[in-house]
Amino acid sequence: MNPAYPFSAVVGLADLKLALVLNAVSSRVGGVLVRGEKGTAKSTIVRALAAQLPQVAVVAGCRFHCDPGAPDPGCPDGPHEPDAAGALRAASLVELPVGASEDRLVGSLDLERALTEGVKAFEPGLLAAAHRGVLYVDEVNLLHDHLVDLLLDAAALGVCYVERETVSIRHAARFLLVGTMNPEEGELRPQLLDRFGLTVEVRATREPDERAEVVRRRFAFDADPEGFAARWAAEEAALAARIARARAVLGSVRLPDSRLRQITAVCAGFEVDGLRADLVTAHAAVAHAAWQGRDVVTREDVRVAARLALPHRRRRDPFDAPGLDERLLDELLDQTEPPEDPENPEDPDGSGGPGSGPGRPGEPGGSGGSDGSGGSEAGDGAPGDAAGASEGSASGSGDRPHDVAAAGVPFRVPVLKVAGVGAGVAGRRSSGRGRHGRTIGARVPAGAGPAGIDLPATLLAAAPHQLRRGRRGPGLVLKRDDLREPVREGREGNLVLFVVDASGSMGARRRMTAVKTAVLSLLLDAYQRRDKVGLVVFRGAGAMVALPPTSSVEAGAARLRTLPTGGRTPLAEGLATAADVLRVERLRDPDRRPLLVVVTDGRATSGGDVTRAAAALAGVTSVVVDCESGPVRLGMAQALAVRLGARLLPLESLGDLVRDRRKAG
Ligand SMILES: [Zn+2]
Repeated sequence: MNPAYPFSAVVGLADLKLALVLNAVSSRVGGVLVRGEKGTAKSTIVRALAAQLPQVAVVAGCRFHCDPGAPDPGCPDGPHEPDAAGALRAASLVELPVGASEDRLVGSLDLERALTEGVKAFEPGLLAAAHRGVLYVDEVNLLHDHLVDLLLDAAALGVCYVERETVSIRHAARFLLVGTMNPEEGELRPQLLDRFGLTVEVRATREPDERAEVVRRRFAFDADPEGFAARWAAEEAALAARIARARAVLGSVRLPDSRLRQITAVCAGFEVDGLRADLVTAHAAVAHAAWQGRDVVTREDVRVAARLALPHRRRRDPFDAPGLDERLLDELLDQTEPPEDPENPEDPDGSGGPGSGPGRPGEPGGSGGSDGSGGSEAGDGAPGDAAGASEGSASGSGDRPHDVAAAGVPFRVPVLKVAGVGAGVAGRRSSGRGRHGRTIGARVPAGAGPAGIDLPATLLAAAPHQLRRGRRGPGLVLKRDDLREPVREGREGNLVLFVVDASGSMGARRRMTAVKTAVLSLLLDAYQRRDKVGLVVFRGAGAMVALPPTSSVEAGAARLRTLPTGGRTPLAEGLATAADVLRVERLRDPDRRPLLVVVTDGRATSGGDVTRAAAALAGVTSVVVDCESGPVRLGMAQALAVRLGARLLPLESLGDLVRDRRKAG
């Protein structure tokens, strides 16, 4: 097998290297989310890091990588003898493919053997394989929601649970979680975002010399991987030694109370939600101090930690530039800088050791080692820099000053349903077959395995074959083919995607208030029905995804309240953007059926061909909420409804419909 590309040989990407190194030093930092464009060597560097992690001692023959010193008491391959033979092995690097099945992730129970032989036959999944190593998820934002939930649970608890009917298995699953995503393909749910300790924005360097060096090294590596690795062996050994040293001193690094208060003040200053930010920043600052060979956390450690731990935890608009406003960071640090302390702010010797000093051959960005020591260098080319400066005007689209109408008190809305029977997650909107609801029959399981077992149907299926299978005594002879799973019918949750016209033609303040109130009411309804919601807005120069599909209705309501109105009406762009959102969402959450709610007066005053845009949404259950008002009506929303095959609901009827239905029922 070829050696991994050496970590030290990766050009640039200083922040990413540092974030990975801090995680290698301290398991409490909580992983890294890498955001950025494709083709930036993200997976190369993650593989390179795994090769840098110290080897782990494992119980020989245990498929769950138990530590001989402290085996998992619940290990399915256990119990292990207290002095079981151990073996050293490299820390694992496990990749979770976006299309993985649940069984592949958490492992699979052999139900046939469980039922027929009464043994828990468990085939470990990727979470078991990643235990005490790295779990790498490329395009984590495209991962199926169901897998995301399983992943989140395991990451939070350090334990993987597998439950199938009455059989359950649990085993330890602690891993360094590294995810990558291209934000243009959709955002991550806030819960998953928060689960990553650090985030790094990466982009390929625009510096021609650096780009040339990247290509040169890649050529050299591909031509002769062994030779290339050998040339970098000293660097790699020094890096591994430095990581090991930092790990060894981690426990004795002191976090003075004044620094802790500086951390909490910085987190408060950036208005982050919850306390996780403070914890992660503190752990990262301690890890950075250890990495720098310091025994006490300094301002520089806090700064580096905050820069990596806070960007994804700010309350933010999707239009905000990425990264952290570094001027605000420095201001906050200045305001909270404790009075002169005996602590030594810079300790250039502390990080010493052969080969770990500056001056590595031909290395523009430096490895985690050289870049971490100087905070001033950190801004070098970091996307955060330019970002901070342009903040505030980011959402401006160049037309008239924004007019923000208030929203009224939400009211109850009629139940809008997706036609037919779906197979989405449990919810309270459309008809759906799945794991929940009333059992209406049984069937032969399709695909990966039964989603639950219907015992009566399974026994009935087995009964005719008992003689032929040689049954003698009591006990039924069951085969996998006998297994039947229940067919349940209940309600599923949907993705309710709102496409809201916020153009000038809707701009009369009172009308926009009515629109916002109606959408807010629908959002509230979606929350109660456990739907996912998304919000596309079109006005002025184009359309934008104001809220990528999320389960956080709160976020949707917040966006809606501050939504400005004005400008022309690019209706086609609005529809095209909605079609894009649905296309990505179908990949990520294929069983969740969408419901499109277009809120407009239907008057397109700019942009492309509405007919073509509407055609791209064929097959999607849609509702057009007609916002036209006044004595003379053009009926444009009705025309749009016809094009979309949508139900048309006049805005003012939304509240009335409920009252009518209640009278009727
Ligand atoms: Zn074990």
